Amino acid sequence: MSGAKDVIRPEILGMQAYHVSDAAGMVKLDVMESPYRLPEALAREVGETVAAVAMNRYPVPTARELRTLIREVMQVPQGCDVLLGNGSDECIQYITAAVAREGAVVMAPSPSFAMFAMHAFFYRLRFVGVALREDFSLDAGAFLAAMAKERPALVWIAYPNNPTGNAFPVEDIERIVRAAPGLVVIDEAYQPFAGSSFMPRLAEFANMVVMRTVSKIGMAGLRLGYVCGRPEWIGEFDKTRSPFNINVLTEAVAIKLLRNKPVLDAQAAKVLAERERVRPELERLTRLRVYPSAANFLLVRVAGGKGAGTLVFERLRAQGVLVKDFSGGHALLEDCLRLTIGTPEENRILLAALREALK
Ligand code: PMP
Repeated sequence: MSGAKDVIRPEILGMQAYHVSDAAGMVKLDVMESPYRLPEALAREVGETVAAVAMNRYPVPTARELRTLIREVMQVPQGCDVLLGNGSDECIQYITAAVAREGAVVMAPSPSFAMFAMHAFFYRLRFVGVALREDFSLDAGAFLAAMAKERPALVWIAYPNNPTGNAFPVEDIERIVRAAPGLVVIDEAYQPFAGSSFMPRLAEFANMVVMRTVSKIGMAGLRLGYVCGRPEWIGEFDKTRSPFNINVLTEAVAIKLLRNKPVLDAQAAKVLAERERVRPELERLTRLRVYPSAANFLLVRVAGGKGAGTLVFERLRAQGVLVKDFSGGHALLEDCLRLTIGTPEENRILLAALREALK
């Protein structure tokens, strides 16, 4: 009999599992969740909704009601279809699977969301990351040149970008979509904080789809992402989907909450206001460079020599505040910390802890 070491792909044996820090008891500002829970009355209604769900039945594979509601509340243009995923993470997997011809190339700015490269790797596709400039702006010329050379089947543009927080210029993205030889996915995970979207422009570009998630507007725990685009794309992605990927509880609760979207919108607006309040406070701290953000987080770089970022991260953690440390990963992100915007109280604790940590 063979053991796992003889059977599992060597490149899988050689990799580390995706790490999520233990946040028990911490002020949790590491993964861009909404800091707000539901108002009491709505939470009770959700309880009743859940109680009425027939959990003995498989989900309806088409999730018709939820998809119809998403079209409506998210203003998906007429003529476009919607694919649902167990988080947009799963949508990334489905799209990658659908384009995974032998030798196909997947391309994205770098650094960007780690899952673009991960799923390319799982499907044995070559991933080409095109480096952002030192200030994390997009070098559109370099990106167009890389596309001309590599002819990617699939291009990911996170708009705004994670972990940098900035939204690349619309004109640059338009040029990329026009020049791309294959599909371009605009990942709008942070759209609720960006105030700009490619969704209304889906009809303009035959090779573009838009991906979103409800994770950043208070539903990260439900796991629901979606892709909007022409049926000729969505219909093909749908063939790679697990038939029952959206479970009955996610479906029922998402329907309930999206019907109450103004509650979620008001929470997102508070986060946005907090981002603008926190930014100048951070800028006032010497040794911190604060990067522009159109998302619900701020990326900062700690000056003071190599290791300064991790030191501040550890000092924050010792004070009960968990953020994300990017040192030791992408070279451009050395000594960078990503601070998710929390409630006013959480942000106050963060700022106080940072002042202490930077002493
Ligand atoms: N895209 C981007 C750019 C992200 O930052 C994230 C989450 N951090 C996702 C997609 C995935 O989100 P989810 O799976 O929760 O929908």
